[in-house]
Amino acid sequence: MDERASAGHEIIGPAAGIKDPYADGPPEWGKLDLQRMLLAGLAFMALFFAFGLFLGGSLSGMQGMVIVSLVLAAAGIIMLAMRPLLLRRHRRQVTRWREDNHVQCQYCGGTGHRSDHQCRFCGAPL
Ligand SMILES: [Zn+2]
Repeated sequence: MDERASAGHEIIGPAAGIKDPYADGPPEWGKLDLQRMLLAGLAFMALFFAFGLFLGGSLSGMQGMVIVSLVLAAAGIIMLAMRPLLLRRHRRQVTRWREDNHVQCQYCGGTGHRSDHQCRFCGAPL
């Protein structure tokens, strides 16, 4: 009887099978930084080519090139506008991670990680 009960207890783990995206820490800043850098690079390239096409198109009187340059310029501006949006999304994710993974100490009010057994500040059990 006791054996079966303890065995059953082992199988029912917390959120078994579902990987917590925030288990290892807050959403990676490095990945976001890379995405934002790529976006800036692509936007710069698009604007650069847009400028060249616009100059070439308007000098040679080819309307098609001017239209393409305007589309490219719009794409570049959209990519630049996405950078702060990505940053805002990241901030939201970090805030959610903090709310999900942090517990407040009942004694001193300090915040600790969910996996901590003791308060970092006063040593009280969490
Ligand atoms: Zn404490």
